[in-house]
Amino acid sequence: MDRFDICIAGAGVVGLAIAHRLLEAFPKASIVLTEQESSFGQHTSSRLSEVIHAGIYYPPGSLKARLCVEGKEALYAFCDKYRVPYRRIGKLILSNSDCDQAISKLAHNAKSNGVDDLEYWAEDRIKVAEPAVRAAHGLYSPSTGILDSHQYMQTLLTLNQQQGMLYAPRTTITSVHPSEQGFLVKTKIDNRSKTETYRFNSKWFVNSAGLWSQHLAATIENLPASSIPKHFLCKGEYFDYRGRNPFSHLIYPLPDPELAGLGIHSTQDLSGQLRFGPDAEYVEEVDYQVTPDKRSTFAQAIRIYFPSLAADQLVPAYAGIRPKISGPNEKPGDFVVSCPQDSGIPGLIQLFGIESPGLTASLSIGSYVSASIKELSL
Ligand SMILES: Cc1cc2nc3c(=O)[nH]c(=O)nc-3n(C[C@H](O)[C@H](O)[C@H](O)COP(=O)(O)OP(=O)(O)OC[C@H]3O[C@@H](n4cnc5c(N)ncnc54)[C@H](O)[C@@H]3O)c2cc1C
Repeated sequence: MDRFDICIAGAGVVGLAIAHRLLEAFPKASIVLTEQESSFGQHTSSRLSEVIHAGIYYPPGSLKARLCVEGKEALYAFCDKYRVPYRRIGKLILSNSDCDQAISKLAHNAKSNGVDDLEYWAEDRIKVAEPAVRAAHGLYSPSTGILDSHQYMQTLLTLNQQQGMLYAPRTTITSVHPSEQGFLVKTKIDNRSKTETYRFNSKWFVNSAGLWSQHLAATIENLPASSIPKHFLCKGEYFDYRGRNPFSHLIYPLPDPELAGLGIHSTQDLSGQLRFGPDAEYVEEVDYQVTPDKRSTFAQAIRIYFPSLAADQLVPAYAGIRPKISGPNEKPGDFVVSCPQDSGIPGLIQLFGIESPGLTASLSIGSYVSASIKELSL
C-alpha cells in the first residue's frame, strides 16, 4: 500500500497554500493533495470577491485578524515573486451619517489589528476621488487589493507539483481510520467510465475540505463528535453591473453588525468588470443558483452609496457559500484550526469555518499548519 507523510483533503485555495508552505518547511516530505472535483478551486475558492483584505473588521486577537494581516503581506509578496496579477486598488468604507461613531470604532479596531494605514476622508475628498458616490465621510484603506485568484491557485499547484506533490483530482476521501502508522485513508476515484476505490497510509492527515470539513470529520474513526464544530451554510449572491464602471476603488458600506457579511459592496476584477455583492442568506444545501428576483433589494442597498444606479443595470452573476460555524443571530465564529491536542488523535489537523478572509489568509493559514507539524516533528 502507498505511504505518504502528509495527506491534504481539498484542493481549494487553502489546501493548495497549506501544501506550498509544508513543502517549503519539509522539502523532502511526500504529500498527496486529494480533490473530489475534476479540478482545483471549484467551490468557495472560485465564488468570491477576489479581494485582498486589509484586516479591518475582525476582533483583535482572533485568528481571522492575525492571519489576515500576516496573510495579506505574504500574498502580495507571493504575487510579486511569481507574477500573479494583482492591483492595490484601495477601498473606501462609506458612511452617510454626520456624527458617525461607527467609522472611528472601525478605525480603532483596525489599529488594534495592526492596520495602521487607514485614512479618514471627508465628503469633499470622497467627491473628488469617487464622483458617483454619495457619502458624508469614510475610511480609505490603501492596502486593500484585488488579485487573479485562479492564477494564484494555478501557480500554487504548479509549484507544488514541481516539488513532487501528488495531486489527485476526482478523488473523494470517504473515510479515515487512525492507526499506529498514522491514518488509513479510503478514497473513491471517479474515472468517468467507472468508479474505483483506492486506499493509502499517511502519517499526517489535514482536513481542508471547506464546506464539507464537518462531513469529512464525521468519517474519521474514533473522533469525538463533540470536537466537530457546528456547521452552517451562508450563501452570498452577486450581480454584474451593466455599463461603464464609474469607480476607481472598491466601495463598501459600513458593515451592519446584524448581517453575516460585510454588506452589499462593489468589487471589480482586474479587467475592471464591476459587480455588487455578496448578500448573506443562511441556506440548507449547496446550491449556486442566483435569484434574479433579488435585483430590487440589491439596487436599494447599493443606491445608499451609489444613487444613480438603475435596477436594470444589475445582471445575475454567480453565488458562493460561506462555511460558517455560527448560525443566524449568533456571534460570528473565528477560524478553527484543530490540532492533535484538541482531538486527541496524533497527526490530525482540521480546518473549520474558513470563510472570508480565507483567500487573503491562505498563505498564513498554510504557515500556521506547517508550524503545528514542525512543533510535533515530522
Ligand atoms: C461569497 C464569498 C466571498 C468571499 N470573498 C472573499 C474575498 O474577497 N477575500 C477573501 O480573502 N476571502 C473571501 N472569501 C472567503 C474565501 O473564498 C474562502 O475562505 C476560501 O476560498 C476557502 O478555501 P478552502 O480551500 O478552505 O475551501 P474550498 O475552496 O471550498 O475548497 C475545499 C475543497 O475541498 C474539496 N473536498 C470536500 N470534501 C472532500 C473530500 N471528502 N475529498 C476530497 N476533496 C474534498 C472540495 O471539492 C473543495 O474543492 C469569500 C467567500 C465567499 C463565500
